[in-house]
Amino acid sequence: MSFKIAIDGPAGAGKSTIAKRAAAELGFLYVDTGAMYRAIALGLLRMKADISSETALTDALSRIEVGLGYENGTQKVFLNGEDVSSLIRTEEVGNMASSAAAKPQVRAKLTQLQREIAGKNDVLMDGRDIGTVILPDAQLKIYLTASVETRARRRYKELCGKGEAPSLDEIAADIRERDYRDMHRETAPLRQAEDAVRIDSSELTIEEVTAKIISLMKAKRQECSA
Ligand code: C5P
Repeated sequence: MSFKIAIDGPAGAGKSTIAKRAAAELGFLYVDTGAMYRAIALGLLRMKADISSETALTDALSRIEVGLGYENGTQKVFLNGEDVSSLIRTEEVGNMASSAAAKPQVRAKLTQLQREIAGKNDVLMDGRDIGTVILPDAQLKIYLTASVETRARRRYKELCGKGEAPSLDEIAADIRERDYRDMHRETAPLRQAEDAVRIDSSELTIEEVTAKIISLMKAKRQECSA
């Protein structure tokens, strides 16, 4: 039986950086499910699809194929065979991903693929609904969060590092809006699974959170093999 770790939480809590490191240390496959939603979002943006129309969305989705691959241990995401791993990292794509992710057809398209990957490998999967919907039987579930202020400051620093001149207030407003959308949608809203361990990363370093997850995982593995 494969071992599954689910990490859920809001945007900017540090999930992907931490999940990537923990997965590498544990020898697990890291699956960033947000990248899959972003790939669909890029496809929808390219088609200028009107996602408020159910028929237009169904038609657009029938022309979108998302795939995952790994190159030297790094996840690559493909949109109709094209490697779009770096093209999906824009605010525009992130916002479209959050809107599209509220649509049941979009979620249904990715659910099966995500479960198939988890059935074949020891995975550490991060997203919003992994512990609640995708892998309810995951042996370890983490809900990783941080205050809006901390997440906005992290994003601000990241954008400054890229030579941009962002507004901290706008970033915080954007994070609040995205949290609200992710937590209040009808299908698979972001929430902590009852059996998830909650970690607030506001006052913790990446190293501290990674170490905590690894020790939780080791304890769980011992418990499971006892
Ligand atoms: O994690 P990331 O910011 O890349 O995800 C982009 C968007 O995709 C999120 O804002 C969220 O709305 C959506 N998402 C989701 N379920 C997942 C992963 C991401 O709804 N499992």
